[in-house]
Amino acid sequence: MQSIGRVDSEGTGRDGLPVPFDRNKIFPYAFRHSYAQRHADANIPIDVLKELMDHKSADTPGRYYKVSLRRKQEAVKTMRLHVVDRHGNPAPMASNKAYEMRSVAVPFGGCVEPSNVKAGGQACPIRFQCAGCGFYRPDPSYLAAIEDQIRDLKTDKETALAMGTAEYVVRNLQDQIDSFKKVSANMHEQIAELPEAERQELMESVKVLRKSRAALGRILPLTVIKHGESSA
Ligand code: SF4
Repeated sequence: MQSIGRVDSEGTGRDGLPVPFDRNKIFPYAFRHSYAQRHADANIPIDVLKELMDHKSADTPGRYYKVSLRRKQEAVKTMRLHVVDRHGNPAPMASNKAYEMRSVAVPFGGCVEPSNVKAGGQACPIRFQCAGCGFYRPDPSYLAAIEDQIRDLKTDKETALAMGTAEYVVRNLQDQIDSFKKVSANMHEQIAELPEAERQELMESVKVLRKSRAALGRILPLTVIKHGESSA
């Protein structure tokens, strides 16, 4: 383990970059525990995890599911206070229920448009033009996705320019870029103003909710050590 130069945690610091993982927390049993918790977070059926872990009773893997649900509830409780509108202005959700039941995850944030919520996020009436939509409710757990989208839109804009598309195509892309950039900048500002303990709590909630959404098929990460980063 000492031969590995650096291990990133899944949380990020004020600069948006991953913070180092405490290597003292890496020991053989931690791999087994992490393996089980990741399966529980990914909603793998408890009897499957029981088999995978070679447990005799479902009570033992059951602990991981309780932790998983509790962590998610705590994360929602924190995150609902940091929801913003499409301009990046605070738009906190009144309760955990409102965050979970009256909004649905779409690629770059929450959506509170009732028919889309009812359809589980699969029925946006305007083809996911979230940046310009009054029903858009992003929060910091979508910040990475928003910033990826800004990069993609910039690439699309360059392509559109090179293709000589109609001016309104380029303008639409630029307007989306500007709108997402404003949301991102406001969120970063609001996060930077938080006291350290609250910021840490928020970042932990970001991690839990991203993991939870990933489990529903919307990606995201394990820490990756790139080939060649070892100092051995
Ligand atoms: S464009 Fe509006 S209605 Fe459609 S998913 Fe985005 S926020 Fe919801």
